[in-house]
This record gives sequence, structure tokens and C-alpha cells, in this order.
Amino acid sequence: MTDQFYALVPAAGFGARMGQEIPKQYMTLAGRPMIFHALATLCAHAEIRTVFVVLSPQDEYWHSFDWAQFGDKLQPLFCGGDTRAASVLNGLLASELQLDDWVLVHDAARPCLSMQQLSRLLNELRNDEVGGLLAVPVADTLKRADAMHRVAGTESRAGLWQAQTPQMFRTGLLVQALETAPNVTDDASAIEALGMSPKLVSSDSSNFKVTYPQDMLLAELLIGRKNN
Ligand code: C5P
Repeated sequence: MTDQFYALVPAAGFGARMGQEIPKQYMTLAGRPMIFHALATLCAHAEIRTVFVVLSPQDEYWHSFDWAQFGDKLQPLFCGGDTRAASVLNGLLASELQLDDWVLVHDAARPCLSMQQLSRLLNELRNDEVGGLLAVPVADTLKRADAMHRVAGTESRAGLWQAQTPQMFRTGLLVQALETAPNVTDDASAIEALGMSPKLVSSDSSNFKVTYPQDMLLAELLIGRKNN
């Protein structure tokens, strides 16, 4: 088994819930395109050798920004698919990584990932048989809604965690998993479909996914704190 680490950032989506003309990953956040912030953290980690970004073949925005500061460590791949899972799989196949290389898959829409969270993931999983993901125990009480948006019941939150990214697996295992279960919304689900149990590595809510317009303000505040 090798101890080589790579990152792969699927960024071929549009982010319809933001309701903007420009794809979410390119919206301006703290003076940069949103995707810049996660790429900067991943590229700054000494153990990560290359950061692949999976873009849509029709992407019209990538080349309008200056990525020179990341040098060869950042590699764009214009092979995104119709779903997140397809984009990750296409990117893994195009990256030509070795089957036992570790790959950390991270969403472009989580710009507030910190170096501490990233290092914790690597260190807790580098000797793990399966791999795993950053995640946070559910803190809120969970309500199930009926069709009228009235409460149909209260669900137990005991043992429930919210999945984040990065999610870290051996490349060969993740390719096999995504080929077997192409309709998943995260990489860990595909590994689970193979009958394996990814490890949950404690994170915190600062690594949230920017999804709705109101999320931008919180992300700006957190990035301002991270950069100071
Ligand atoms: O839309 P959502 O926020 O769930 O997307 C998660 C990540 O997957 C984003 O970084 C998005 O750009 C990416 N994605 C992709 N290809 C798609 C759909 C989403 O790379 N077809």
C-alpha cells in the first residue's frame, strides 16, 4: 500500500438552489471565486501531492481566473458528468492515480474547510482499512414534515451524523464503488453499498456547504477569520 495523498474537487455542478446566473463555485466570496478557498487549503497541505478539479467540458469560467499561485499542484480536468458521482468517477479515471493512492474528495461548495480539519482527517484515516469522512453529530431536534409542511413526527437524532467532505478512500475502491452505485449523493454512500463502514471523523459546523444565498454571509465571516 502506498502512502500518497491526492485531492479531487468535483466542480461541474451549477448550484441551482443559489438562483444565480453564474455557477455557485465561481460566485465571489471574500474577493475570490468560491472554489478558490477550498483549493487554497488543499494545495497548502504538504502531504497532498496534486489537487485535481473536475470541471464541466462546457465550463466558460475557469480560464478567466488566475490560478498560477498553485503551480503544477493544481490540475483541472474538463470531464464532469451529469451528477456529482459521475463527475467524481470521470475525474478519478482521468487522473490516472494508482489503485492504492488515497484520494480526498472535497466539494467546491465547502470553502471554509480548515487546515486543522484536513489534517485530522488524514491522520485519523491514514492507517484505516476502509477510509472515511469528516462529519458532525446532529445537534438539532429533527421533525418529519407532511405534505402540508406540518409536523408528522419527531425523529430520534441519537447516533445521527451529518456527512461533510473531504471523504477519503483508496482510489481503486472508490472507482469500484461509484461504478457499482452511481446514484449516490456522496462517496461514502457508494462505499457503504459495497458493505463497508467508512469511519466518521469529528468535524464542526464551520465546514458547512454553501447552498442558499444567505449562506454567503456566514462563509465570508469564517473565511475572513481563517485568513487573519
Ligand atoms: O449541488 P451540490 O452542492 O450538492 O454539489 C456538490 C458538489 O458536486 C459541488 O462542488 C458541485 O459543483 C459538484 N457537482 C459536480 N457535477 C455535477 C453536479 C455537482 O461536479 N454534475
